[in-house]
Amino acid sequence: MPELNAGRPGMYRCPVCSYRDLVELEQSAERHSIECGNCGTPLDLAPRDVHSLQLSVQIAEIRLPSP
Ligand SMILES: [Zn+2]
Repeated sequence: MPELNAGRPGMYRCPVCSYRDLVELEQSAERHSIECGNCGTPLDLAPRDVHSLQLSVQIAEIRLPSP
């Protein structure tokens, strides 16, 4: 049996390759950084609605090294 305090599940859809996957978000985290399981694009996930599994997805900004 899964533990209830583990986190909340969410579904994301990669905007690059349309890959869909289920992830688990930490309860306390407002944003969640992952890499697409298919194409490896860094993504920022944010819960959209407490009643919805759908997550809003943004491609994470690539942090360039400071000059
Ligand atoms: Zn992808």
